[in-house]
Amino acid sequence: MPALKYKRVLLKLSGEALMGRGDYGIDPDVLSWLAREVIEVQKAGAQVGLVIGGGNIFRGAGLQAKGMDRVTGDHMGMLATVMNALAMQDALERLGAYARTMSALKINEVCEDYIRRRAIRHLEKGRIAIFAAGTGNPFFTTDSAAALRAIEVGAELLLKATKVDGIYEADPKKVPEARRFEQLSYEEVIARNLQVMDTAAFALCRDQNLPIRIYDMMQPGALMRILRGEPIGTLVHAG
Ligand code: UDP
Repeated sequence: MPALKYKRVLLKLSGEALMGRGDYGIDPDVLSWLAREVIEVQKAGAQVGLVIGGGNIFRGAGLQAKGMDRVTGDHMGMLATVMNALAMQDALERLGAYARTMSALKINEVCEDYIRRRAIRHLEKGRIAIFAAGTGNPFFTTDSAAALRAIEVGAELLLKATKVDGIYEADPKKVPEARRFEQLSYEEVIARNLQVMDTAAFALCRDQNLPIRIYDMMQPGALMRILRGEPIGTLVHAG
């Protein structure tokens, strides 16, 4: 078995990833499938932090479009990420792993507060740390939370799991001959106006030189292969 190329990583899953084929909420089968993929790399010696979005339940911008105050909507969105984090924690624990949900908003009866040094300790101890409630601030997304937490805990790679197997020069559903990029520099992503993650999150990764790998989360074993150094999906880095 080849050694792991990355020792500590941060995996960002969108809330929508948990829906499976549904259009709301959480599909328990998808959840335990994802949990298995994470446990596989944790057992191989990787330290894994997770950030899960909330788009399968609420998004502040969507609630605002229906007339709600934006900040209240964002608070609901952040609480939605806590629900997803608890569901993932449960799925991981049912499979025998150790996991800790740490929230950017204080909900002490439900989970731990996010404290950076404690988070690092969890990772060192082989616990899967799930960072919930985004950044704790409205007007941000969980992409920003993923970038922030990855940098704070010293992750070597930010993995963004999507439904597409990387970044393409055009939407592969509309342009079947569109080519997938193996790798891109931060500058190329900006120059080509490619949507990797939201601007604030991307700027943080670029400024702190954090590599991002975009890959298809439903490809079995992909996470493990990436951690072993295989070039799956698209890598965005300093170039
Ligand atoms: N959110 C927020 N601040 C954050 C992270 C998230 O206000 O730091 C809110 C925001 O309303 C967002 C929602 O939580 O729409 C769910 O997160 P996101 O849209 O990133 O989830 P995903 O698209 O990854 O499922």
